[in-house]
Amino acid sequence: MDLRYSEPDERFRAEVRAWLSDAVPKLPPKPGPHDWDARRAWDTTWQRMLHDAGYAGINWPDEFGGRGASPTEHLIFLEEIERAGAPYVGVNFVGLLHAGPTLIAEGTPQQKSRYLPKILSGEEVWCQGFSEPGAGSDLASLQTRAVLDGDHYVVNGQKIWTSFAHVADFGELLVRTDPSAPKHKGITWLILPMDAAGIEVRPLRTIAGSSEFSEVFFTDVRIPVENRVGKENDGWRVAMVTFSFERGTAFVGELLHSMKLVSSLAELARKIPRGDGTVWDDAGVRRELGHIAAELDGLWHLTKKTITEAERTGVPGIGGSVFKLSYSEVRHKLGDLALRILGSSAFSMEDGDAADHVRGWIHAMSISIAAGTSQIQRNIVGERVLGLPKEPA
Ligand SMILES: Cc1cc2nc3c(=O)[nH]c(=O)nc-3n(C[C@H](O)[C@H](O)[C@H](O)COP(=O)(O)OP(=O)(O)OC[C@H]3O[C@@H](n4cnc5c(N)ncnc54)[C@H](O)[C@@H]3O)c2cc1C
Repeated sequence: MDLRYSEPDERFRAEVRAWLSDAVPKLPPKPGPHDWDARRAWDTTWQRMLHDAGYAGINWPDEFGGRGASPTEHLIFLEEIERAGAPYVGVNFVGLLHAGPTLIAEGTPQQKSRYLPKILSGEEVWCQGFSEPGAGSDLASLQTRAVLDGDHYVVNGQKIWTSFAHVADFGELLVRTDPSAPKHKGITWLILPMDAAGIEVRPLRTIAGSSEFSEVFFTDVRIPVENRVGKENDGWRVAMVTFSFERGTAFVGELLHSMKLVSSLAELARKIPRGDGTVWDDAGVRRELGHIAAELDGLWHLTKKTITEAERTGVPGIGGSVFKLSYSEVRHKLGDLALRILGSSAFSMEDGDAADHVRGWIHAMSISIAAGTSQIQRNIVGERVLGLPKEPA
């Protein structure tokens, strides 16, 4: 891994920057947070623009329609996206960041040619149907049942916390195919067509007012056997591949956004009056913000290592859990400090700059739960990185 950028890297940066400065102003205004049809259209329009310019799937291999960019180019691309204030993946999160990469690693040639191009062009949106009411951290306890009937699986059960389910065309679905096997050995990974008969999507509203999650109910839903990814009952192993992408590299855009929030918070602190001066006069505040900036910078370098490794081996390593855990913690610290800096202006969700930080603080709470909670990441790091004894089953 070389942390410096070479001349060709800088040329690539200039090319991306020029394209972004032309493309971003062409986007229509961003729709409201609860107008999901408009949000899907906006996010997929941007994806189409990236696609047509040759930037879709920046780190996907070119044989699968991606850009085949080097790890460094991938990072430069993400830096420039954030710098330009361009959209990140939006509703294409699952498809681009972990469903597509899972299909590249584990899918059949037919699955790759059927699904990957439409993820890249933004024509098809994916969601993830893993969690169930009784299976979150202990995902292997999942009960949604699939029974083979000719050339279809017949699925019955329920998923929950399915982000973007109400705007998705396909889903990553984990089902139990052998209830008599040990729990990790009876699971299968299926491609779920969201328009199949017998699927009911019920949107949920979170305490933060967001409507991105749904419950998904399955009644005799027929899914063709050709939609199975990996072998029957080998779905746990395939799910670990999905998680390695989800925990390993999917949060990189988030990290860059947090770095930007640090700068914006410093600017706000210089303006907000406190005592005879401003919040910025408080050396304690400056020190805390400096620590957070340093931690984020450290995580950026860890990211470079993870991405370099992932692109060499095809799948990110266990470093993803270290990153996810540390990032969640620093994100909480940033959110808490933001609220202390903002003081009473934190109550306003209307004011642009302050609202960004308040939303960021609420969002921080979900980061330490999504894609596996911090406690679970600690267990993984303890057992698989540090070699500590396994927790009792
Ligand atoms: C923003 C967001 C988006 C999400 N999107 C999706 C999605 O698209 N698709 C999907 O399938 N799921 C999604 N989820 C669900 C997410 O994967 C689960 O919420 C998560 O795995 C935790 O499961 P749970 O909510 O059932 O909590 P539980 O598993 O019930 O955990 C409750 C608490 O107990 C702790 N705990 C549990 N087991 C242990 C243990 N062995 N050791 C120590 N502590 C433990 C947990 O850390 C947690 O603090 C999303 C969640 C969030 C917040």
